[in-house]
Amino acid sequence: MVRAVSARIPAPLPYAAQVAIFSRFREAEPHPVTELEYRNAFTLLVAVALSAQATDVGVNKATKALFAKVSTPQQMLELGLEALTDHIKTIGLFRQKAKNVIALSQRLVDEYGGEVPQSRAALMTLPGVGRKTANVVLNSVFDFPAQAVDTHIFRVGNRTRIAPGRDVEAVERAIEDNVPVTFQQNAHHWLILHGRYVCQAKRPRCKICPIEDLCPFEEKTE
Ligand code: SF4
Repeated sequence: MVRAVSARIPAPLPYAAQVAIFSRFREAEPHPVTELEYRNAFTLLVAVALSAQATDVGVNKATKALFAKVSTPQQMLELGLEALTDHIKTIGLFRQKAKNVIALSQRLVDEYGGEVPQSRAALMTLPGVGRKTANVVLNSVFDFPAQAVDTHIFRVGNRTRIAPGRDVEAVERAIEDNVPVTFQQNAHHWLILHGRYVCQAKRPRCKICPIEDLCPFEEKTE
């Protein structure tokens, strides 16, 4: 769950600092990708829908056997609710998530010819699919520079002032407005990886941080 920020929101980092920071991210990882495992647009959609309040590692464990036999909405409907529930029972909120996946599969078959639609609005009509899930799918499989703001990106965006904002939608807009266009496509992955492994919530690892000299966060660790 991402908490909104109540304090005054500072100005975003200037252009030159944004270029310097993302150049370093790109140097360290030229082709960042999601850590969720998937086979196509549909399986990524399912994996992201399952990942709410769960780790990517946990989702990957549960979907390994599932995606070996299911890669289309029609196949998911043929598998059925009971078998799907059994496949994902190690993931939090699995009963509700299984219902959503069956319902979204039915909607894809009935309204989109069994294909995953390529628009945010259409994706967000699917059961269990919010703006963040839609943006991950648009970015990772349709190569659209959509910014899916999760708890990591919200924290990193505000600490570093790459994209400060009071809530997730403000941070999403701040990334779109401030991150140079050439870095937009991969910004989502670079910021998630940075938040997950370096700028961690309880104790940021400032000593090993590749952008320490550019980061204005006042409570850096020694
Ligand atoms: S210097 Fe510290 S607070 Fe700033 S981005 Fe790096 S890890 Fe995060």
